[in-house]
Amino acid sequence: VFDLIIENVVPWGSQPACSVAIRDGLVVALDPPSADVSAARRLDGAGGMLLPGLVNIHTHLDKAYLAERIVNISGTLTEARSRMREAKAAFTVADVRARADRAIRQGLRCGVTAIRTHVDVDPVVGLRGVEALLELRTAWQGAVDLQIVAFPQEGLALEPRTEELLREALRLGADVVGGHLSIARDPETLRAETDAVFRLAAEFDRDIDVHADIDIDRDYVRDVSTHADGLRYPDGLGVVYLAEKTIADGFQGRVSAAHLSALDTIPPDLRANVVDLLRRANIAAVALPASNLYTHGREDPTGARRGVTRLLDLQRGGVRVAVGTDNIRDPFLPFGNADLVQNAIVAALACHLVRTEDFIDMLRFHTTAPAKIMGLADYGLAEGCAADLLVLHARSLDAMLDGERAPHWVVKRGRVVAESAFIASLYLQEDDGA
Ligand SMILES: [Zn+2]
Repeated sequence: VFDLIIENVVPWGSQPACSVAIRDGLVVALDPPSADVSAARRLDGAGGMLLPGLVNIHTHLDKAYLAERIVNISGTLTEARSRMREAKAAFTVADVRARADRAIRQGLRCGVTAIRTHVDVDPVVGLRGVEALLELRTAWQGAVDLQIVAFPQEGLALEPRTEELLREALRLGADVVGGHLSIARDPETLRAETDAVFRLAAEFDRDIDVHADIDIDRDYVRDVSTHADGLRYPDGLGVVYLAEKTIADGFQGRVSAAHLSALDTIPPDLRANVVDLLRRANIAAVALPASNLYTHGREDPTGARRGVTRLLDLQRGGVRVAVGTDNIRDPFLPFGNADLVQNAIVAALACHLVRTEDFIDMLRFHTTAPAKIMGLADYGLAEGCAADLLVLHARSLDAMLDGERAPHWVVKRGRVVAESAFIASLYLQEDDGA
């Protein structure tokens, strides 16, 4: 007897239709012999697409929906940072919790069952953001896996009091050590910033997830040097020291780096060296195309640069890649959205995908690839994988790309947690009432 059988679904919108049998939160059989199979619950997928639950690998839930209160008039990163500094001084735990909860809820309606969120930790906001997210991590247990990255938005080397606050956040239960490497403007500060991140990660035995090389206005090619491996690297690139430190400290497979916009500004031969170094360090690259398209090139008088990282070059070079949303409707990204399929479509446009089938890769960058970064074991559609699944109304990739993308059912660890955009009663709040 199975807990749940979902009949007549099409894995990735491209494979032959099958049934999925689930027991104890796991996919235990694909296409079980139908005649004598009994299950506590049966769902008829009616030929709809089957996907693993969507995973948002990079967002900022503590800032979600602040665009409704705060207008970033210039649209620049500089103004976003200064307005956020003002706003977060007034953050309360309840305010952060309410906004973050709304983003989790909106994501779940769209099939997002795991989220890694960066949360600001610094002397301005203290630990209020982390406290709110820790409460939500517990409240959503069983429906959405939430990982909290303690994020020094204002830097560690430049704001030394932050390191002790980060330590306290990790003691309270934050999962991952964050970093903001591109805040450093010279190689010495960059190394200090990176070293502080590794110091904390080693002390607490946590993974690392940094923001790196966001700035596309720096001249990364001015200073280039040959390193111990005999290859030439731009001195100003944060991921170069990050990767070398990762290898030196034995952190391979435990570090991810987001943005990497600067990879689009350096010549292909230097870029190939950096890509190969990232592969050897087994650093995961997290692309945030929607965010970069919005933020970068804003003041270019003609030919606005996009600042989107070289996702396909990284993938072809053997680097693990994933794609996140970055901010959700805040002063950094007023048009960011918790809907990961929308994000995948924007990313497909920005990263120059070609064929309809390539979109399956893009869906992997939003499901199995980020799940691996988050350490969610055995994630996917195979037997033995966690039963984190979406069944869509759409019966094919074409139908999904035509706009039919709402999930019919969202299944987490074998339980239906959302149905036709209504979230299961356990997690019900007034706004979800039928
Ligand atoms: Zn970010």
